[in-house]
Amino acid sequence: MKRERGILLRWYRKHRRDLPWRRARDPYAIWVSETMLQQTRVETVIPYYERFLTAFPDVHALADANTDTLLELWSGLGYYRRARNLQSAAQKIVTQFGGNLPDQVHLLRELPGVGPYTAGAVASIAFDRPEPIVDGNVARLLARYLGISEEITSRAATEKLWKIAGTLVAGESPGDLNQALMEFGSLVCTPRAPQCKVCPLKRKCVARQSGNPEAFPVKNKRTTISQIYAGAVLFERAGKYLLVRRKAEGLLGGLWELPGSEITLRESAQVRTTKTTLRDSIAKSLGLQIKVLPKIGTVEHLFSHRHLVLQLFRAEITDGKIQHSGYVAHRWVARRDLESLAQSTLLRKVLHCCKLLPRETHVRKR
Ligand code: SF4
Repeated sequence: MKRERGILLRWYRKHRRDLPWRRARDPYAIWVSETMLQQTRVETVIPYYERFLTAFPDVHALADANTDTLLELWSGLGYYRRARNLQSAAQKIVTQFGGNLPDQVHLLRELPGVGPYTAGAVASIAFDRPEPIVDGNVARLLARYLGISEEITSRAATEKLWKIAGTLVAGESPGDLNQALMEFGSLVCTPRAPQCKVCPLKRKCVARQSGNPEAFPVKNKRTTISQIYAGAVLFERAGKYLLVRRKAEGLLGGLWELPGSEITLRESAQVRTTKTTLRDSIAKSLGLQIKVLPKIGTVEHLFSHRHLVLQLFRAEITDGKIQHSGYVAHRWVARRDLESLAQSTLLRKVLHCCKLLPRETHVRKR
């Protein structure tokens, strides 16, 4: 692997993109960038990273941040659990590590939201420790170059990849080596149409020799996407609209939304049954008796493996006072203030469908 190591490092030093976090030496900034980059494209992350560091320039600022402000800054980046984990981890760094990010993988792994990839990335890039990383780009590159025939997410393949990455990273400039692997996977050994002709690794690449490099990495057939159905209601009172905040756990935890509930496929088939379920559900979650009015529209949204079909209705409160058994908070929000609360892409789509927000201008990759 010595030869490959040299090739990758030379390639990286010549071709690497000038990204803001690559100019940073502060472990905190590197940790933030690595967290943002999980499941999100580099181009999308750049403005978020810059705004985030301006608002929370160090671990203390993040630990003390107002959660609403934090989630607003994360708005549109998706996978909001990452933001909440960052803050919990910052609080732990302040209380248990004297405000300094630990420099060893086993200690980094104690922080909420820090898995083997992030721990390896921070330890190698910020602290120059020879710790391996394997993300999608690295896995694809190594699987192609070495012709790994096991299914890429299998235990056997995972163990093999981490072992090889560990061999590769041992030596000078471990942070650069890890970044070289990721950058190479992202720019040269791309998922579709890899640049084999100009690839400096082509001579010994098994996937290229097979004549069909895209056959690697070996993957199970596409994960099936499940369908979920839900309904939500829009209450208006004196020019303000009712938003509720989800409990912290689970999908979209801690975010604001219109009140509603999941419904079954059978209930969703008819407007009458959808309305009945929504009425009963709002009585339970908010303690309100309501009348569900005409339908506004339907919004569809793809989470990683779930496709949501959400029907929206206008509604009015006929009796009761808001209680919070199904939510943690509620707020009547004027139209001009909706933008600042519209933290999830889904809520933005919903408000757009209700004609309360202008058309979506930034939809992140999914
Ligand atoms: S030769 Fe092609 S498949 Fe092999 S590492 Fe290079 S870009 Fe990837």
